[in-house]
Amino acid sequence: MPWIDRNRCTGCGLCVDNCPAEAISIAENLAVLDMENCIRCGSCHEVCPTESIRHDSELTDGEVEANLQEAIQHAQSCADLKGNTLESLASLERHIKHYKRQKLVAEKTLERLQHVLAYQNEEYREKTASE
Ligand code: SF4
Ligand code: SF4
Repeated sequence: MPWIDRNRCTGCGLCVDNCPAEAISIAENLAVLDMENCIRCGSCHEVCPTESIRHDSELTDGEVEANLQEAIQHAQSCADLKGNTLESLASLERHIKHYKRQKLVAEKTLERLQHVLAYQNEEYREKTASE
C-alpha cells in the first residue's frame, strides 16, 4: 500500500489528477491517501515528480519494531494489572498465536492470489492468441 513522505511532497496535485479511484486529495498542501478507496494501481508512484509516494515495504522494519514494543508493553501491563508475573508470559504467548494466525492468513491469501494470477494470465494468453 502506498504512503506519503510528508517531507518530500510539494502538493503539486499530479497524483490527484492521475488517480483513477479518486483516492488522493490535497490538504494543507500535502497529498492525503484514502486507503479505503485505493485500488493499488501504482499510478501515483509513476507520476510523482518528487518520489513522495513510497512503497509499504519501506515501513517493514518500523512496523515490526512497533509490534514488538506493543507486545512487550501489553505483557508488562498484564503482569502489573493482574498482579502475577506469569501473566506476562501468557500475554506474550497470546501475541505469538495472534501473529502466527496472521501469517497463516497471509500465506493462504498469497497461495489463492497466485492461482488467480495464473488463471488470468492463461485467459489473457488465449484471448490474445485468438485475435
Ligand atoms: S504528485 Fe507527489 S509531490 Fe505532487 S502532490 Fe502527489 S505526492 Fe505530492
Ligand atoms: S495506487 Fe492508484 S488508486 Fe491508490 S492512491 Fe495511487 S493512484 Fe490512487
